[in-house]
Amino acid sequence: MPKNELEKALEQVRQITKPQIKKRPLQLTTKVKIVPTKEQEEILWVLSENCRLIHYFANKERKEWWDKNKHLPKKKRDKENKSTYNKQSAQLPKLKEKYSRYKQNYSKTLQDILKQLEADYKSFHALRKSGDNNAQPPKYKSKEYFTTMHYNQSGFKIEGTKITLSHFYPTRETKEVDLTFEMQGKFTFTGKKVKQVTIYRVHKTKEFYLSIIYEQNTPEYFDNGIYQTIDLGLINLVAAVNSHEGKTITIKNKRVDKYWQPKIEEVQKKRDHYKKYSNRWKWYNDKMWKMIRKQANQRKDFQHKVSKKVVENTRANIIIIGDLNVKEMSKSKKNDKKKDKSLHRNMQSSGSLGRFARFLTYKAQLAGKKVIRISERGTSKRCCYCMKKENRKLSERTIQCDCGFVIDRDTSGTANLMQRLLALLALSQKRLVVRQRLLKDFREKFFSDTQPNVKRKFLLNRSCADSQGITS
Ligand SMILES: [Zn+2]
Repeated sequence: MPKNELEKALEQVRQITKPQIKKRPLQLTTKVKIVPTKEQEEILWVLSENCRLIHYFANKERKEWWDKNKHLPKKKRDKENKSTYNKQSAQLPKLKEKYSRYKQNYSKTLQDILKQLEADYKSFHALRKSGDNNAQPPKYKSKEYFTTMHYNQSGFKIEGTKITLSHFYPTRETKEVDLTFEMQGKFTFTGKKVKQVTIYRVHKTKEFYLSIIYEQNTPEYFDNGIYQTIDLGLINLVAAVNSHEGKTITIKNKRVDKYWQPKIEEVQKKRDHYKKYSNRWKWYNDKMWKMIRKQANQRKDFQHKVSKKVVENTRANIIIIGDLNVKEMSKSKKNDKKKDKSLHRNMQSSGSLGRFARFLTYKAQLAGKKVIRISERGTSKRCCYCMKKENRKLSERTIQCDCGFVIDRDTSGTANLMQRLLALLALSQKRLVVRQRLLKDFREKFFSDTQPNVKRKFLLNRSCADSQGITS
């Protein structure tokens, strides 16, 4: 293990024994469907259109300035740009006086448009700065798309399963329609502190949703001396081992794409027979996107279920996952191209392991547990028994080591991660005796569980910490 990596891993491991100093509630986001009435939908579109108009005028002003001044030196341009947001946002009250239509909006929704535009211009200028001369200023928004709007604490009210979003009536003549919606689904916000509500519309399905950010208190964490390491992968989503019994579990990944991909490709083929944007083409196109969304949802559901199960079914308060370097994984080697290619395609199409790790992390926190990442460099290449390192193809699922030991590759990987963890833990506490014992105990339990016929003497006498490249 390189020195800087070792130091980083040690720092991570020190987190295990650290009690929480300042408890901060966890911020979670949930998605809720709402079904507006026809009258409500009309109002929502008016509010959205107001946002779009603000965006249009603010963007126009910025664009014109850019066209005139793009030849100025960068410093001058930056200075001017920085003050644009403040200037534009100061104009909002005057605009509301002049055109009463803008009074209908909860004022943060309009402010946000200017803020977002500012951010978009920032990234545009950054692109230009980095030498990308093809970068274009942000585009105008189409009338067809509903503008996503944010409401903070003074802009909404939640009572039971009902939520009301603020809006105002510019004249007495306008018919008053409340933006009160029944929140669909089982989720309840009773007793939770809701921080922000965002309304958006999925263009393809014409459905409205709320994205709700709320705070959740979590139980206090403590180090109970029981650990679990997990090797995350695409074939086995989870291969895990615990420290106190050496017990392993593996959970196979659900390859939803095996069911959906052929169906999606078939519909796509049919679609491409027709002229682009013709009615038939659109029909097949909608059908295809429906399938793609279903596939993505199934994948996500499965990850939610598995991450929940993993957290609930372990006594460990610490869950260790490898610090995955996805880039390293996707570098395919020539001689193993074919099989690896399909692996990588699956990985890229889902981007799924990173998300799974995020699910695991927040679910653990909700249960008073911690997820910690340590470097998994080399853990999948070593035989977990004799620690011999060998270059293995990604498609090789079983390790058959020269020492005679045979084991599933992912299980070996997670056992190696556990051995690394225990070595690091001992090292961080500078207690040599503990270090020997923890590792020996684990190895004894683990190997008697997986392969009772191996020569115990041999493995117990080895200092595995040294062969992991960790020395004190
Ligand atoms: Zn071996």
